[in-house]
Amino acid sequence: MESILIKKGTVIPCDGRRQVLKNTDVLIQDGKIAQIGEVKQKADIEIDARQKAVLPGLINAHTHLAMVLFRGVADDMELIEWLEQKIWPMELHLTADHVYWGAMLGCLEMIKSGTTCFADQYFFMDRVAKAVKESGIRGVLSYGIIELGDPERRKSEIVKGTELVQKFHGKANGRILTMYGPHAPYTCSKECLLEVKELARKHNVGIHIHVSESEGDIKNTIEFQGERPIKFLEQIGFLGPEVLAAHCVKVNDEEMRILKQRNVKIAHNPVSNLKLASGIAPIARYLREGITVGIGTDGAASNNNLDMFEEMKICSLIAKVRENNPTVVNTWETLEMATIGGAKALRLENEIGSIEVGKKADIILVNLRSAHLAPMHDVVSHLVYAANGGDVSDVICDGQIIMKDRQVLTMDESLVLSRAQEMAMDLVERAG
Ligand SMILES: [Zn+2]
Repeated sequence: MESILIKKGTVIPCDGRRQVLKNTDVLIQDGKIAQIGEVKQKADIEIDARQKAVLPGLINAHTHLAMVLFRGVADDMELIEWLEQKIWPMELHLTADHVYWGAMLGCLEMIKSGTTCFADQYFFMDRVAKAVKESGIRGVLSYGIIELGDPERRKSEIVKGTELVQKFHGKANGRILTMYGPHAPYTCSKECLLEVKELARKHNVGIHIHVSESEGDIKNTIEFQGERPIKFLEQIGFLGPEVLAAHCVKVNDEEMRILKQRNVKIAHNPVSNLKLASGIAPIARYLREGITVGIGTDGAASNNNLDMFEEMKICSLIAKVRENNPTVVNTWETLEMATIGGAKALRLENEIGSIEVGKKADIILVNLRSAHLAPMHDVVSHLVYAANGGDVSDVICDGQIIMKDRQVLTMDESLVLSRAQEMAMDLVERAG
């Protein structure tokens, strides 16, 4: 594997020390970060990073990647209606090919906006794994289990979840990892959730689930399970440090205590929560309580893009509005949620999420020489409040350069755009 030397960049390691290292080199050897500082030795590839910020690849802690195919087909609707009337009917017609090209488009968009790792929950996940393998990105994949209390369906859904774990966990040099993905407490019975919990323990993988996304979600859970989502999950013994709970928007004091006590990880999706008017999650409070929070985009149908820079800005802004306090969820806290926080949420903080010697080399370069990023006072402020995904110039994942000067090296961009367009049109036609 070729060594890479990133020279004289403004390095933001996100290693907890909140430092900005000016004029600093980063050496990558054998896919890992080997040196940070002034590096004397030569490397196979050198990247001039003057005028560039060098930071850990962003981590999208919750998405449904192939839903990029539904981008812009159903806007301005309420969550449950949106799911029942638009999304689920279209998903009935999904084929493996739709998901593959959707996932390819999603990987392309993420690479072009600086995301190197994502947590996904969807269907035909072997096709998503194929897209991850080919694009060079990192993915934590889960099959979305929905069984609505039907024992036959439970059996087949859990088999699909287990197949993904058994076939793909650790594949593509470890870039593909897996979790179980029971959709939500209002779409999965107690029996299903407990079975999943046990299987996740047996296979030593996490569990990715939607929790307390909106008032409608809470109402449906009370109807189906007789209790609010977090309380119900606690009562059946489901919660634990391996649980990645997407959303957690509607959470009362008791539930907040439960999340903290069980060390549940939260994937916060600010734009999706706003677009579906689900509410504003109590992120400032989660951080004060020491609860781990990563940031996600959710699927593109409710966002409508996968740009983690946009997500960071809106995350910080809505947290301020919720608390009526502009000092909360500051620039550093926000950048950390999108990097090391996301890594912790996925229990990968020993491998990715920061620029530290020995970690896997998932690194992005951001061009700082731009009208909207001038003048330069505070680079972290610019990254959170002024930059966008289009400012990312280079992307390295697992020690491989996958985008150079905005050219994605692992995919045929034009082909992906054409095929994704065809697949989206086909899907809309099939669904009538
Ligand atoms: Zn979701």
